[in-house]
Amino acid sequence: MATLEIKDLRAGVTTDEGAKEILKGVNLTIRSGETHAIMGPNGSGKSTLSYAIAGHPKYEVTSGEVLLDGESVLDMTVDERARAGLFLAMQYPVEVPGVSMSNFLRTAATAVRGEAPKVRHWVKEVKDEMAKLEISAEFAERSVNEGFSGGEKKRHEILQLALLKPKIAILDETDSGLDVDALRVVSEGVNDYKASGEVGVMLITHYTRILRHITPDFVHVFADGRIVESGGKELADELEENGYVKYAGKAEPAS
Ligand code: ADP
Ligand code: MG
Ligand code: MG
Repeated sequence: MATLEIKDLRAGVTTDEGAKEILKGVNLTIRSGETHAIMGPNGSGKSTLSYAIAGHPKYEVTSGEVLLDGESVLDMTVDERARAGLFLAMQYPVEVPGVSMSNFLRTAATAVRGEAPKVRHWVKEVKDEMAKLEISAEFAERSVNEGFSGGEKKRHEILQLALLKPKIAILDETDSGLDVDALRVVSEGVNDYKASGEVGVMLITHYTRILRHITPDFVHVFADGRIVESGGKELADELEENGYVKYAGKAEPAS
């Protein structure tokens, strides 16, 4: 069992015009076995939330806490966060020429597990997961993210998820740029891993589309840097129908 607690998190960036606050007090608790959808308009700060938890150097946390089983995530290095069981797809968005996917994944697994997986087991593990995600064998030898299509990058994220087996997974816009078939395969990959009941998922998305495949236990509306409403999966249906218009005025705190 694992619990991720986000408490009154404030974070921002420094631009040429000065400090800009983006997250304005985010509160959220995610437990193993739960899927939380974070939904909100573009520019509301959803990606910043995942960057702040990931420890992206551009995003400065100014106050609040992020705790994983009571341990302060914000005090951990990026590697320590991964070892503690946090998975952030945003951590590896870059192209890494000359490093094959299969080497990259083995290095990542070694970092997370604390020891290198035995080669023979590892090759089979990777092959099995790739087959499930309908990823061609040739993919394993390609350089990380180099020339990957949007769909390939997303399948790669889910492949990492399946192999690294984190306690808490944060998936940002996993559905963007996917065609219907890729969306189905990626969703099945997430659902497969969720079926273990051991992972807590934060699924960040602008659209309700992926929620037809991955059923959330909780839906949170994100507007202007904070959660302004929470509910069950019916809230996603309401958003699908009415959009985010009614939340435009709710962005300021009530008090
Ligand atoms: P979302 O993921 O909900 O679309 P983002 O977290 O990407 O929102 O962005 C939230 C707001 O913060 C936007 O107004 C965006 O322009 C701004 N922002 C995000 N990252 C930066 C940055 N590195 N520098 C300046 N502004 C940023
Ligand atoms: Mg955006
Ligand atoms: Mg975003």
